[in-house]
Amino acid sequence: MKKACEIRISGIVQGVGYRPFIYKNAVRMNICGYVANTGGEVLVHAEGNEDELRLFSEYLKKNSPEGSKVETFSVSPVKFKHLTDFKILQSISDNNASRTVPPDISVCDNCVKDISDSTSRYFSYPFTSCTKCGPRFSIVSNIPYDRENTSMNHFEMCDECRKEYKNPEDRRHHAQTICCPKCGPSFELLDSHGIKQSGEPFGKARMLIKQGNILAVKGVGGYHLICHAKNDKAVEELRMRKKRERKPFAVMFRDFDSVGNCCFIEENEKKLLRSREKPIVLLQQKDSSCLSTRINPGLNRIGAMLPYSGIHFMLFDNELDSLTATSGNISGEPLIIDDAEALEKLKLIADYFLIHNREILSRCDDSVMFCEEGENLFIRRARGFAPVPIKITGNNTGKCVIAFGADLKSTIALCKNNNIYGSQFIGELESRESAEIYKKTIKSYIELFNIHPEIGVCDAHPDYYSSNTARKSGIEILEVQHHYAHIASVIAENRIEGEVIGAAFDGIGWGTDETVWGGEFLKASLKGFERIGHIEQVPLPGGDLGAKEPWRMAAVYLHKVFGPDYKNLKIPCVDEIIKNNGDILIKASVAGINTVLSSSAGRLFDAVSAMLGVCYFNTYEGQASSELEAVADTRVRENYIFEIKNDGELIICFSNTIKSLVEDFMNGIDVSIISAKFHNTVALSIYEMCRKISEETGIKKAALSGGVFQNRLLLVKTINLLEQNGFDIYINKQVPCNDGGISLGQLAICNEQLKIKNKHNC
Ligand code: ZN
Ligand code: ZN
Ligand code: FE
Repeated sequence: MKKACEIRISGIVQGVGYRPFIYKNAVRMNICGYVANTGGEVLVHAEGNEDELRLFSEYLKKNSPEGSKVETFSVSPVKFKHLTDFKILQSISDNNASRTVPPDISVCDNCVKDISDSTSRYFSYPFTSCTKCGPRFSIVSNIPYDRENTSMNHFEMCDECRKEYKNPEDRRHHAQTICCPKCGPSFELLDSHGIKQSGEPFGKARMLIKQGNILAVKGVGGYHLICHAKNDKAVEELRMRKKRERKPFAVMFRDFDSVGNCCFIEENEKKLLRSREKPIVLLQQKDSSCLSTRINPGLNRIGAMLPYSGIHFMLFDNELDSLTATSGNISGEPLIIDDAEALEKLKLIADYFLIHNREILSRCDDSVMFCEEGENLFIRRARGFAPVPIKITGNNTGKCVIAFGADLKSTIALCKNNNIYGSQFIGELESRESAEIYKKTIKSYIELFNIHPEIGVCDAHPDYYSSNTARKSGIEILEVQHHYAHIASVIAENRIEGEVIGAAFDGIGWGTDETVWGGEFLKASLKGFERIGHIEQVPLPGGDLGAKEPWRMAAVYLHKVFGPDYKNLKIPCVDEIIKNNGDILIKASVAGINTVLSSSAGRLFDAVSAMLGVCYFNTYEGQASSELEAVADTRVRENYIFEIKNDGELIICFSNTIKSLVEDFMNGIDVSIISAKFHNTVALSIYEMCRKISEETGIKKAALSGGVFQNRLLLVKTINLLEQNGFDIYINKQVPCNDGGISLGQLAICNEQLKIKNKHNC
């Protein structure tokens, strides 16, 4: 006797070819019925005899299309409808279902083959895609992910495309982004006055790049500024026009071999580079690399990526194997996605524009990652990953929550049921433009995921733009200390039960005592935290300038360690301090004028970087510490001495460290050795603090977070020390350890507070 059952599958099930996959197998296994998207789930109605239904549902339980991620799978009996075939139905909207939006997926190998095959109708067509690949999130206006809810809706399929779309045997069966040169979007090449250039746009673009021109290229999640990566003059020109003195540029390579010519690639880096997400991966540069030295001045890593859409594949040819590819924006402003805005704002940077007529609806920067300790770790979570829900420990409070994040490397997060939607990297909320985008992102996430937050959570900082946005939102707001949020992000994503020792090594964040924190040791769980210790506080001279001008921190530390005599030290940094009237600064900061106290680890690294003459002025955030890490000789095992004082709190005091390292420097010891010894010292101090706290508390779990842990030398040394001594180590893996992870930490704390409240109310 024939029966019917309903199968519901949730998770990442849209935009990955799930419906065609089900269709194919249903037909193969003699099942009648239909499959549809509901906005959050794939719903299958299956009819057949008992054995057929059992085999079918067992097969679907064990198999799923590439790129999908199944979270729940359920089968239940339903009424038999006497269906006689199997169909893919239009989507059914279901407002209550959890919604998911697929991330953008890099172009697959088969589509690349089509683009390179002169007999294919997709030959040299940059928008070629299939059910397994192509843009998703960046072109979606609503869910479910169907063509009419994307910016592809302006392009009517031609007969040939429709035939493939409808053919169950075709790779593009139900591919929502299907299009071809006849019916799909197209490119044109414009000069900086917006005048259209004749001829085939890509061929001409390649020629212009080879001649040393800078091009603004509209891609998947926004514009890139592109030039020849081996042409010093072009790269330098791009730096000058973009007013970006030293911040490293990413490089897009033609293929895997050309990456290998310039960088060392370990096995896991290889996998990550080639993954469907195709992030920028930070790789160790080879000495023999012939990339322009102006790409990453003062650093020894290259942010490398492979082409992730047909658009990029077509920018390369036999003679061109590497392109500098940096975000198309004005410094400090968000990535540009709008054509008119690009033509207006980038005309002083780009010589030519390579533009297409498919609208980008959500901006999504390239994700940036690195491999360390066998893990793929984020610097920036964006294209390819957002808005995939982040899974944390049981967070179902029944309430919708929004986390407003922090002001640097800003992200937001929304929570409904058990899903957390962490936004892509939004940027620094310094400019009016970024602030606009921040608000827009909040609005679009609320609409897209149909989440209406009843409670919000933000940083406790008195003046953060993000916090003020939260306070003005009209909903109930919980304020969370910055470094507690950092540690909470690690607790949440690693699903740690009970308390941890949290080491938050960071730039700066507002402390509960109204000083500036940033080198903190917390005893923490999602229920609450206690500050057990920190780096000894020093004045942070000149507010924001303290972070932008490392020589200021050097002056403060040198004065603290050597007293007024520091001026007699024979190091170039002292000359720099005197040149900048640092004496006045010191007097003011000792007197407490225009200065706050800070325990920031980031500023300590800045100070040492300046003392060793590595970097006096940051032209980008984190420059001084990045360049200090880059010069370190990783083979050095020694360290300097430091002290841990106990006056109710545990205080790490680096005065002796600084004294010795300045002496080493004056004695002509190489900076590479001093830098390494300094890194070793900081790692050892973190371990010693954890050991002491563990002795007091019995806690053996250590959580590391905060932007300073983007320093891989410090991260690895610290992890090794802690691990060798019996600690369980936890770090951020789903979100960055920098402020991009703050929203997740805030959200986790808020959910826990809601749970506690619920219990009290019961
Ligand atoms: Zn494809
Ligand atoms: Zn077509
Ligand atoms: Fe931070």
